[in-house]
Amino acid sequence: MDALAQRLETVRANIARAAQSCGRAPEEITLVAATKTQTDETIRRAIAAGITVCGENRVQEFTAHLAAGAYEGARVHFIGHLQTNKVKYIVGKVDLIHSVSSDKLLLAIQRQAEKLDLVQDVLLEVNLAGEESKFGLTPEQVLPAAELAAGLANVRLRGLMCIPPPSTGPGKNLPYFANLTQLAVDIRQKIGDNRADVVYLSMGMSDDYQDAVCAGATHVRLGTALFGPRPPVLTNLGRES
Ligand SMILES: *Cc1c(COP(=O)(O)O)cnc(C)c1O
Repeated sequence: MDALAQRLETVRANIARAAQSCGRAPEEITLVAATKTQTDETIRRAIAAGITVCGENRVQEFTAHLAAGAYEGARVHFIGHLQTNKVKYIVGKVDLIHSVSSDKLLLAIQRQAEKLDLVQDVLLEVNLAGEESKFGLTPEQVLPAAELAAGLANVRLRGLMCIPPPSTGPGKNLPYFANLTQLAVDIRQKIGDNRADVVYLSMGMSDDYQDAVCAGATHVRLGTALFGPRPPVLTNLGRES
C-alpha cells in the first residue's frame, strides 16, 4: 500500500474511534481532502484510494484541476477564501462552498446562482477567535447573515464552518468547536427548520479533527494528515514563495 492509502486508512480509523468514543456513528462524518498545492496526479491517486470529496482553496487551482479532469470520481467543495469577483468560477461547479465570510459574498453567490438557475449550497464561515489574519463573520454577525441567507431563493444555507487557531494540544480547540455547534443550534431555533437546513458543521483539521468529531463535526478538512507535508508553492520562475 502506498503512503497516501496508508494515511487514509489511519485517518479513517481515527475518525471511527473518535466517533465511537462519543456515541456517534463514523458515517455521520464526511472526510474532505484539502488538496491545496497538490498535483492532478496526487488528486487522482487520493480518489483511487477512496477519497470522495476534495476541498479546494484557490480558484485558480480548482479551475486547472477541473479542466484536467483530476476530480473524476469525487465531488468538490470550495473551502478557501472567495472574492466576490470570482464567484462565477465556483458557483454551480462545486457541491458546497464552506467559506462564505460576508453578506456581500452571500449576495454575489445569490446573483450568480440565479443567473444559472440553480441553488448553491453554502456554509457560513465564523471567525471565532477574532483573529485579524482570518476571514469570517464574527459570532454576532452569524444570525443576521443566516437570516439574510434564508431569504435568498438561490442559496441554501446548510451550516457553519470555522478555522480556529492552530491547536496547541489535545482538547485545546474543543471550546471553539463547541461554540460553533451552539451557533448552529441558535440559528435553527431562530430561523426554523423549514427556512434553513442548518445541519453541517465543517470543523477540524489535521491537528484537531478527533476533537472536532466529538464536538459534532459533520465535515473534517484534512490536508497534511492525508498527503504529508505540503509541497511548496512554486512561482512562475520556479522559486518557492
Ligand atoms: C489547508 C486547509 C485545511 C487542511 O489543513 P491541514 O492542517 O493540512 O489538515 C483545512 N481547511 C482549510 C480551509 C485549509 O485551507
